[in-house]
Amino acid sequence: SASPSYIGRFAPTPSGHLHFGSLIAALASYLDARAVGGRWLLRMEDLDPPREMPGAQAAIVESLQRYGFEWDGEMQRQSDRHDAYEEVIERLLRAGLAYPCVCSRKQLEAHPGAYPGFCRDANQPKEDAAIRLRVPNLEYGFTDRVQGEYRQHLGREVGDFVIRRRDGLFAYQLAVVLDDAWQGVTDVVRGADLLDSTPRQLYLQELLGLPQPRYLHVPLIIQPDGHKLGKRYRSPPLQPAEATPLLLRALRALGQPTATELSDALPGEVLAWAIPRWNADRIPRTRTLAEAQLR
Ligand code: GLU
Repeated sequence: SASPSYIGRFAPTPSGHLHFGSLIAALASYLDARAVGGRWLLRMEDLDPPREMPGAQAAIVESLQRYGFEWDGEMQRQSDRHDAYEEVIERLLRAGLAYPCVCSRKQLEAHPGAYPGFCRDANQPKEDAAIRLRVPNLEYGFTDRVQGEYRQHLGREVGDFVIRRRDGLFAYQLAVVLDDAWQGVTDVVRGADLLDSTPRQLYLQELLGLPQPRYLHVPLIIQPDGHKLGKRYRSPPLQPAEATPLLLRALRALGQPTATELSDALPGEVLAWAIPRWNADRIPRTRTLAEAQLR
């Protein structure tokens, strides 16, 4: 069968509950997919068990359901994909495109910024070592549908980056690229905190011969004290009772229309109303939005 022309996804990390910032990312990716009759997938990015909050996976799924989201097919978990990640790591090592690194955190603290390359040509044994990907001394850029042109020099601004940690955990950058390709994702819609991860992901796609999705990075919500609204700052979890007002608030934050009669609607009805009215061109073209300024 022909591959669908639009496959989107929401890919939460179960380190905590969903919050208003996650709702904006979920809503934008959902509406962008459904407005064109596309598929929308749910992927649990559970790569880091030590940082996982007990019960977070179930709480995230329940929040999404209470907020009216419906995903296609079964939720996938990155914890089920370790063999695929390991296979690619071995391939990159054999090809000399990645290498073992035994630099300690302490050693690297003395060299902030791009990795100084101590292990690059040191032929370290891969036991008890992190694995780093060699990056070319090149600029990678793309045109984001909301943020416009974004460019980053991988050699100078990022350096060889970790794709498997010394403790054996796989890195987000590798897993996200492999899974988006494996699931046929055509459109990545997510928070602008990941804008500066995208050039690393573009390089991995190029290296592995994977298709490049389109990208849309929605503004991050900033608290009055300048902190990102996120798990680290203990922003309040999404409450089921607030689903309709928070969905309406998220729609306004994304520059989309709302209607007063929707204040009594069920969450699923708000989403159904918003799908045919979705216009990504109306999303504010900014990296951050101050929470205090949202209506
Ligand atoms: N798992 C990431 C997060 O929760 C999002 C990954 C992505 O959308 O590419 O921040």
